[in-house]
Parts: sequence; C-alpha cells; structure tokens
Amino acid sequence: MNSQAPDTIHTELTIIGSGMTGMAAALFAVNRGISTTLIGQHSAMNFASGVMDLMGVHPAGQEWDDPWKALDRVRKDLPNHPLVKVDNLDIENAMEELLGFLKDQALPYHRAARKNINVITSVGTIKKTYAVPETMWNGVVALEKKSPTLIVDLDGMKLFSARQIASSLADRWPDLGHETIVFPGSEALEELHPEHVARALDLSANRVKLANRIKPFVKDAAYVGFPALLGMYSSREAVTELEQLLERPIFEIPTPPVSVPGIRLQETFISGLGKNKLFRTLSTMVTHVKTDSGFTITTGGNTPETIRSKAVLLATGRFLGKGLTASRQGIQETLMDLPVEQPETREEWHRNDLFSPQGHPVNRAGIKTDDHFTPLVPAPEKPVKNLHVAGAILAGSDWMRMKCGSGVAIATAFAAIKAIEKANK
Ligand SMILES: Cc1cc2nc3c(=O)[nH]c(=O)nc-3n(C[C@H](O)[C@H](O)[C@H](O)COP(=O)(O)OP(=O)(O)OC[C@H]3O[C@@H](n4cnc5c(N)ncnc54)[C@H](O)[C@@H]3O)c2cc1C
Repeated sequence: MNSQAPDTIHTELTIIGSGMTGMAAALFAVNRGISTTLIGQHSAMNFASGVMDLMGVHPAGQEWDDPWKALDRVRKDLPNHPLVKVDNLDIENAMEELLGFLKDQALPYHRAARKNINVITSVGTIKKTYAVPETMWNGVVALEKKSPTLIVDLDGMKLFSARQIASSLADRWPDLGHETIVFPGSEALEELHPEHVARALDLSANRVKLANRIKPFVKDAAYVGFPALLGMYSSREAVTELEQLLERPIFEIPTPPVSVPGIRLQETFISGLGKNKLFRTLSTMVTHVKTDSGFTITTGGNTPETIRSKAVLLATGRFLGKGLTASRQGIQETLMDLPVEQPETREEWHRNDLFSPQGHPVNRAGIKTDDHFTPLVPAPEKPVKNLHVAGAILAGSDWMRMKCGSGVAIATAFAAIKAIEKANK
C-alpha cells in the first residue's frame, strides 16, 4: 500500500531558500532539464541592492579593478573560500547564463569587459562591483568622467540623502549638486516608501509630474541621479521617458532595504522561471527534511505540503536568512543540523576592534563542503547522498567585506547544479 499522501509533489531537485542562490540554482537546474521545486518566502531579495559583486576586496583594504586577479589572490590566500572550489571558466559561464536570462526577461545588466566597475552607494561611498542593472549604468559613466551631475532625493524617504552623497564625494567629484524634491501626491505624507514610489512611476503621468518638479534645478547638469525607485515593473520605460523629459541621461543609485532593484530581480526570476514547465515554486518555509532513499520535505504554513525529491540543495543563507542561528552553545544550521565550521569559543567570534579591517571570524563561519558542495561530516558519519549546499551559508566567505555576495551565490549554485546533473546521469 502506498503510504504517501496522494498529493505529494514529486521532483528531481528541491531547492530550499529563494534568495539569489536559490533563484540562480533553479535557473541552472531547469536549463539542464532537471525538474525543480524552489521553496522559500518570496520576499527574500528585498534586501539585496540589485548590483552584483563578484570579488572586490582582498586582503583587507585592497580593492581590485580586475575581479579575476582578485580571485587569483584569494585562491592563494584563502583555500576555504567557496569561490576557490569553482574554476574561473565556470564562474564566468555562471554569470553569463544568469545575466543572459535576465536580459531575455527585459531586466538587462551592464558590466565592463573583465573589469570591476565603480558605483556610488546611498551613503556616498564608491564601491567596486561586477554588474549593475542597466538603469544604474549612466551613474558608472558619470562617476568615471566626473561630469556635472544633479543627485535628487525625495522628501520623506529614509536612509537616502542626496546631500550626504554630494558632500561625501565633494573632494573627488566637485561638480555634484543635490536637491530634495517633494514627490507629486506625497505632500501630506510623513514617510515615503520606495516601493510605493516605484509603483507610482510605472505610470507615465507621474513621471511627467516628477520631471516638471525637477526641471528648474537641472540647469547645466549633464546627468541626473535618482534613488533606485524609477518604476517597479517598467523601470526601463520610466528611465527612457524621464530622460526625454529632462533632456539628459539619468541613472539610479542603489538604496538600502527595502530595495526596489532587489524586488525587480525577485519578480523577474519568478515570472521568467515560471514559463518553464520543469519549475514549481512554493512561497513558504521548509520545516522538516527526512533523509531516506531520497528526501521527504515538509513545509509549514496553513496548508503544509509534502515533497519527495531525489536531490536537495540547501540555500538558506546565514543569520539574516535564518539558515544559521547562534546560541550560547555556538552556531547551528537550523534545518538539518549540519556541522558548522566556526571558531572554537564564542570569545573568538569577534575581534576586539569592532571596525577591524580584517573582519570578524564569525562572518566566515558556515557549512564546510567538498569540491562538489556536499557538506562534510565528521567520521565515521557518511555524507548524505545527493545533498548539496550553496551560497551565503557556506563557510569561508566574508562576503560583505570582500564584496563577493552575488558571486558566491551564483557561482556555487552553478557548481552544485553541475554536480547534481552529473550524479543523475
Ligand atoms: C542588505 C544587503 C545588501 C546586499 N547588497 C549586495 C550587493 O550590493 N551586492 C551583492 O553582490 N550582494 C549583496 N548582498 C548579498 C547577496 O544578496 C547575498 O550574498 C545573497 O543574497 C546570498 O544569497 P543566499 O540566497 O545564499 O542567502 P539569502 O539571501 O539569505 O537567502 C536565503 C533564503 O533562504 C530562506 N530560508 C531560510 N530557511 C528556510 C527554510 N527553512 N525554508 C525555506 N526557506 C528558507 C530565507 O528566508 C532566505 O530567503 C546583500 C545582502 C544584504 C542582506
């Protein structure tokens, strides 16, 4: 007698976690003919700034124009860094495949040939990254040329100040002006939410009203920079129309969370992947994974689902994503209790200097794997067959400090899917 519930979902691969790693892995999997179920809350990428770092900083304080040379140095110095397990050709192919997909889904990204690019951040620092949404590209050019530029912010918007950007960059970019604009229709609001403005700017009428308010301040600026909220579903149209109305190129600057480019990425992945018959997604959390001759996965929520899967890719992130949790006993992996590589005692988690350029050992804690991204377990235990781990949960990468967040997510997802494909042949 079949003991399984009749509505059990059967799939070749279950990906747990729908951040950048989970989304990238789902894309690579369905492109290779693997039926895939992606499980995770569909708001995971609201935090991501939308720019894609590959490798920007290593060792502490050394910034790299060439991410591939930076990776060569990381390979020498940090053998446990997850990107060391993926060769450069695979990293390049992973980026190519993912950016190609986004372009096909009308969310194109721009990058320089084999070079990192510089972007302005919301606090007026300059950061090395690998690829930016097309809507940010003119900012890379304006910064490079130090062209006369007006940065605009919106009255009531938190954590983004055009004045701060201009004053932080004043010594390097003297021709940077700033102006705060009251967004049309928001006069009575105390706080302005980026995602509401972005939806409003999907409508042409609101772009016209906004441009009319900005025009008197543009003067001889060659470019106008905005917080990244120029349209949720029609950002390219919004940018094109605002450029016509303001008669000069414009660009978006990444914002702190909630990040509109992060939401655009999330929605683009879900709608683009949804066109593939091999793809299914459940917007919920996994509560239990049972390992037998495969995996039985149970989800939470009001209508729990059961999934039978040949392989599992764990992409549940770190503390923010809740893939890892910290207690007095140490750092634990939350779902399958996998061993976590971590400092021996809590006292060693942080250096005495909070702002130490070397970073803190706790930020390198995570799951240690072999070269196929199978988690390592202490002998005499045997690794679980067909279980792989990818992304921010992996040990060895202080992604925030090294500016390698998306690179680790995308490249390790690619390598893990390649291993799953090979194992299933
Ligand atoms: C504020 C912020 C800014 C960033 N800016 C940049 C940037 O400028 N450039 C860059 O390249 N990268 C940036 N990143 C990093 C980049 O987004 C991360 O490296 C990348 O998101 C790692 O992705 P991940 O999918 O491995 O983990 P996460 O993004 O943490 O995603 C893990 C997901 O797994 C889900 N999950 C956890 N447990 C379960 C469960 N039991 N069941 C189902 N789902 C579960 C979580 O809900 C979460 O959605 C930023 C990240 C943050 C937080």
